[in-house]
Amino acid sequence: MDYSRIIKVIDDNTPEFNDLAKKIYENPELAYNEVKACAWLAESLKKHGFDVEVGPYGMPTAIRATWGKGHPIIGVLAEYDALPGLSQKQNSAFDPVVPGGPGHGCGHNMLGVATLAGAIAMKDDLEQNGLEGTVVFYGCPAEEVLTGKTFMAREGAFKELDLAIAFHPGAGNGTGVGVMTGLNSAIFHFKGKTAHAGGNPWQGRSALDAAEIMSVGANYLREHIKDGIRIHYSYKEAGTAPNIVPDRASVWYYVRAFTRDDVEDTYKRLVKCAEGAAHMTETQLEVEFLGGCYDTMPNKVIAHTIYDTMKELPPIEFSDEDKKFADELNHNSHLFTGQEVPPIMEGIQPIRDERGSGSTDVGDVQHIVPCAMYNTACENTLAGGHTWLITACSGNPLGWKGMIFGAKVMAASAAKFYRDPELVKAAKKEFDEAMAGKTYNCPIPKDIPIPQPQK
Ligand SMILES: [Zn+2]
Repeated sequence: MDYSRIIKVIDDNTPEFNDLAKKIYENPELAYNEVKACAWLAESLKKHGFDVEVGPYGMPTAIRATWGKGHPIIGVLAEYDALPGLSQKQNSAFDPVVPGGPGHGCGHNMLGVATLAGAIAMKDDLEQNGLEGTVVFYGCPAEEVLTGKTFMAREGAFKELDLAIAFHPGAGNGTGVGVMTGLNSAIFHFKGKTAHAGGNPWQGRSALDAAEIMSVGANYLREHIKDGIRIHYSYKEAGTAPNIVPDRASVWYYVRAFTRDDVEDTYKRLVKCAEGAAHMTETQLEVEFLGGCYDTMPNKVIAHTIYDTMKELPPIEFSDEDKKFADELNHNSHLFTGQEVPPIMEGIQPIRDERGSGSTDVGDVQHIVPCAMYNTACENTLAGGHTWLITACSGNPLGWKGMIFGAKVMAASAAKFYRDPELVKAAKKEFDEAMAGKTYNCPIPKDIPIPQPQK
């Protein structure tokens, strides 16, 4: 296929895209609070001719923007939330803008803008060539807490699509067909009775004891769960001073597994550990279910189409300056072992087919419609995941070159689906076979309210 028009549209608008990526990098906003990023992306979508809805699905920082008519309806999934504690200046040594402040340590500023740029080029492709088809840009809040797309799905998003394409910045160019874990997230709150820990401890009922005993139970539970299931926790509240019997304690848990059924089964058993602990300590338990997401189910037809497209496009050209910055970051990385590595992973990596213990709410979309995800090289080789090194790259031309390549891959892959109904059918057939008659069952119950931006 001739991709010259797609390449030109994205190249012509690259200054705008880079500026936007820089602005979002400089204004990092946490999950459900992506007010500025959402407004800037929506403004650009409007300017480029999309019908834009800000705040659909009861989520003020979500976007649904469309262009075109008829099938295939192709969705693209933007994210733009930052992570806590990963603030970083344009420096190859650790140097936060705000110590402890938020930063784009997963590169979602680039994710949002690449998806915007991809959608703009998809629209142009449909328009210029008089093709039938629709592009739907979803602005998806709060990926970092793994519930944004799940809430959107609960409120009816994504099912309108024939297929979806998802991009994520990475340390290389490639796509994968391996499964990542699904997850449940919940905070277990225990309420006891306070007392002077020295004076009258027999009158106290320690909420902290309950939280600790729950975790002892959870740690014993590990022996009796399937390989690959992960349970991890962190204390949110654990008393104030040793001489005060804590009447409140809270512990936050994630359960991850490679199927939704295993997540739910293990989660139920974890709740029993909490109930047992409350019983033993004569405290009260309140379970605050924060949400969950599906395991991933990458569509191979879409993944292979993306892979082929990546190889057909002109590669990213990193400058000597980009490579120098990346090499310095590698030397300052916690993953640096003393062995020299290429500063940036260039070329296209073979399709990965391995399991990953991370999670993404893209998994929910992949259980609603056929969808695959890919990465492009936006980071130094040893950036790791969720690090200040990624924040550094996300505000740097090195990252933005990967972002622009990511946009081209998106639009060029979509171009194939817009022109080939058989390819769309093949993706759908694979999806139907994989679902084997099951339907998507949102992990977040109806009665859980959608988090709103904090003023
Ligand atoms: Zn991410």
